[in-house]
Amino acid sequence: MIFKNSLEFAQSLDKQDPLNHYREQFHFPKHNGKDIIYFTGNSLGLQPKLARTYIDEILKDWETLGVEGHFEAKKPWWDYHERFSTQLSKIVGGMPEEVTVMNTLTVNLHLLMVSFYRPTTKRFKIICEEKAFPSDQYMIASQVRFHGYKPEDAIVEIKKRPGEHNFRTEDVLKTIENIGDECALLLIGGVNYYTGQVFDMEVISAAAKKQGAFVGWDLAHAVGNVELKLHDWNVDFAAWCSYKYMNSGPGSASGCFVHKKHHGLTDIPRFEGWWGHHKKERFLMAPEFVPEPDVNAWQISNAPVLSMAPYLASLQMFDAVGMDAIITKRNLIVSYLEFILNAVSDKIGADFEIITPSNPEERGTQLSVFLHGYGKKVFHYLMENGVSVDWREPNVIRLAPAPLYCNYTDMFDFGKILEKAIIKQ
Ligand SMILES: *Cc1c(COP(=O)(O)O)cnc(C)c1O
Repeated sequence: MIFKNSLEFAQSLDKQDPLNHYREQFHFPKHNGKDIIYFTGNSLGLQPKLARTYIDEILKDWETLGVEGHFEAKKPWWDYHERFSTQLSKIVGGMPEEVTVMNTLTVNLHLLMVSFYRPTTKRFKIICEEKAFPSDQYMIASQVRFHGYKPEDAIVEIKKRPGEHNFRTEDVLKTIENIGDECALLLIGGVNYYTGQVFDMEVISAAAKKQGAFVGWDLAHAVGNVELKLHDWNVDFAAWCSYKYMNSGPGSASGCFVHKKHHGLTDIPRFEGWWGHHKKERFLMAPEFVPEPDVNAWQISNAPVLSMAPYLASLQMFDAVGMDAIITKRNLIVSYLEFILNAVSDKIGADFEIITPSNPEERGTQLSVFLHGYGKKVFHYLMENGVSVDWREPNVIRLAPAPLYCNYTDMFDFGKILEKAIIKQ
């Protein structure tokens, strides 16, 4: 498509956009009485209006039923987490019995590492990416120390080449081959939070499996954003938070995936609790643990239904739209944003650089922009003028137009504000 940097053109794209009306199903923060341009859906997605209905439903059931709500509520609380499996499994490419919702992301990764990081003297290394999301770095280092190894011996970071902004798949594969049968686990963020680069999860998973390692993916920035086929890729486990692209509210429950081949095992190391006990016998309160036959064996505590409710509400919308339609719009809206950025740069001779890969296969709905010539003033100007973006040291702003609630006019308006922000520098 030939793009134009004009309001009429942006509005015509909005008119043709089959997802345009979903915008009305979200609450937007306001600036001077107008919806802000919200580019921070990669950090906290906007609130779907339906979220309140789902929370109110639980509050009402609690009000009128008390403890009976566990079984008598409209959506009974005791198996509330099971309501996610079918729809969520389509989003991550798993089977329904491989996908559940519980805890929060870093907690789930820790719990899954109990099962899938089982170091031995020969095989004890973990491959991850350099400058991973800090929580992942802390988590991996603490797991390694917990097992009696030193992070500097056990953690192998995939590096970017000097002067390059993104990882090369060939370098990831080379590292996997070099570490070979010393690799106990490969655990990488499927979409890099800083640059928005999408890893070739299929090829990388296969290479690590070939060396006999377990494979896990942190999908915080991937779920609801890029195509995933966890089952077919033979991934052992994955986890993600729900409050970024899945719009489920601050600190809302995390999703997780455990491949079917690990289900039904009684000898797998795992931290257990009553919600992972087989549901048919859960309330017999017997002393011996009988695991659920599926991913729910990893459940520990009873479901925090109030925090799960917005996730369920949001999931209804994702299911109605479908990932194919989201990805189609994502590709167009991100390309349009890229075009606008380049148009601004050409017009005023601005010195910034998009560090996210330009290949649509290697990116989702985020563009990270390195502001070479400019300081944090540009960021502050954007924030003060109705654009929600985020700043990452040393000099990067991240722009993530979520396809469900951002429109093409936002991209055009953003270009105008950015132009002023830079001229004012
Ligand atoms: C957002 C994010 C997290 C956040 O972890 P919480 O446990 O939900 O606080 C962890 N890892 C990655 C890669 C993230 O992007």
